[in-house]
Amino acid sequence: MKTVKDLDIDGKRVFIRCDFNVPKDEFGNITDDRRIREALTTIRYCIDRDCKIILASHYERPKAGEYEAKYSLVPVAKRLHTLLKIKRDIFMAEDVIGEDAQAKANALEAGDVLLLENLRYEEGETANDADFASKLADFADIYINDAFGASHRKHASIDAITKFFDSEHKAGGFLMGKEVNFFSKILQNPIRPFVAVVGGSKVSGKLEALTNLVTKVDKVIIGGGMAFTFLKAQGHEVGNSLVEDDLLQEARDIMQKAQDLGVKFYLPVDVVAAAEFSENTTVKFVPIQEIPKGWMGLDIGPASTRLFREALNDAQTIIWNGPMGVYEMDRYSKGSMAMSNNIAQTHATTIVGGGDTADVTQRAGDADEMTFVSTGGGASLKLIEGDTLPGIEALK
Ligand code: AMP
Repeated sequence: MKTVKDLDIDGKRVFIRCDFNVPKDEFGNITDDRRIREALTTIRYCIDRDCKIILASHYERPKAGEYEAKYSLVPVAKRLHTLLKIKRDIFMAEDVIGEDAQAKANALEAGDVLLLENLRYEEGETANDADFASKLADFADIYINDAFGASHRKHASIDAITKFFDSEHKAGGFLMGKEVNFFSKILQNPIRPFVAVVGGSKVSGKLEALTNLVTKVDKVIIGGGMAFTFLKAQGHEVGNSLVEDDLLQEARDIMQKAQDLGVKFYLPVDVVAAAEFSENTTVKFVPIQEIPKGWMGLDIGPASTRLFREALNDAQTIIWNGPMGVYEMDRYSKGSMAMSNNIAQTHATTIVGGGDTADVTQRAGDADEMTFVSTGGGASLKLIEGDTLPGIEALK
C-alpha cells in the first residue's frame, strides 16, 4: 500500500478520510479522543506541505437525510483544533457536499483545514454511491484514506471515491500504514510464545478470527461471554450464561484443532455468577462446575485471573480482543481490569484491538503501557481473520 509520503502533495487539495467516530458521554463531551489524536500525523504532514485539507468522517449512525445535531462533527472540529495547536481556525462545513461545503472548500488557502459534516447524513455514503463519491472526489486532487477503523466497510468515502483518483493521487495515511503494518507483521512473524486473549460477548462475532488465530498462536485464552459456549461444548452446566447453542460444534472443532496443533487452550475455571443481568443482584464467586441453575456468569473469577496470568508469564507477543466480563458494570469489571494489568506488566509485544478492549485498557490506566492499541475494532478483527480490507484493496 502506498502511503501519503509516496505522493507529490505539495500545495494540492487533499481529501483525508478520517475515522472521527469517537465516544461521547450523555452531555456530548468526547470521552476518548484517541482516534482524533492518531489522525494528527497525517493532517500535520499535509499542513506542512501547504495543502488545502478537506477532512471527512462518519459519526455513529444518523438517519440519512436528517441533519440531527447530536450526530454533528462540530465537537470533533473543536477538539481537533485544540490538539493541532494551531492558531488559525478549522473551518466546519454545515453540510457534506452542499453549498456551504462547496463554498468553504473553494475559499481554502494553503494550510487551511475544512471538516465536512458527518458523511452518513448523506444516503450515498453507506450505499457506496458513485454519484455521491464523485461529488466528494471533486473537492480534491489527492485522496488519502487514514480511516483504518472504517476501512472494513465498502462505503462511498472508502471505496467508490477511489475510482476517481489514479495511483499517483491516492494513498493510505500514516495511521493506516501503522495499523496495517502492526497486524501483518505480528501475524506473519510473531516472536514466540504468541498468545491470543479473546473475550467479548459472542463466539459468532469472532469465529473466523478464532479459527485463523488457532493456526498461528501458541496459546489461546478465552474469557467473556463467549467462554460459556466452549464450556457448554465441554459438557459443563452453565445456567443462564450467554451461550450460542448453534455454535457448540464449531466450538468443539476449534478446541480439537488447537489440540491437534499442540496449541494450549485456556478457559475460565471460575466465574462471578449473578442471579440476574444487573449490578443490583446477588452475586457468587463459583467454580465453573457450580454455577447455580438459572444464574449467569458475568465475569471471570479470581482463580481464572491467576491461571491466565500464569499462562501469560512467558509470552513474547500478546494479541488481545474482547473483555473478560461485562466490564461496563463495576461489579463485573475486575476480570477485565486484571487482564489489562497483567498484559501490561508482561515484557511481551502487546496489541489491543476492539473498541471495548481499548476502553478497558484506558479505564485500567494501562493504555500507554501497551505496545499498540488499534483504533479499529471490526477492521482489526478482519485482519486477524486473514482478510484484506476493502479500504486497502481500493487503494491498490
Ligand atoms: P464484543 O463486542 O463481542 O467484543 O463484546 C463486548 C461485550 O461483551 C461487552 O459489552 C461486554 O459487556 C460483553 N460481555 C463480556 N462478558 C460477558 C458475559 N459473561 N455475559 C454477557 N456479556 C458479556
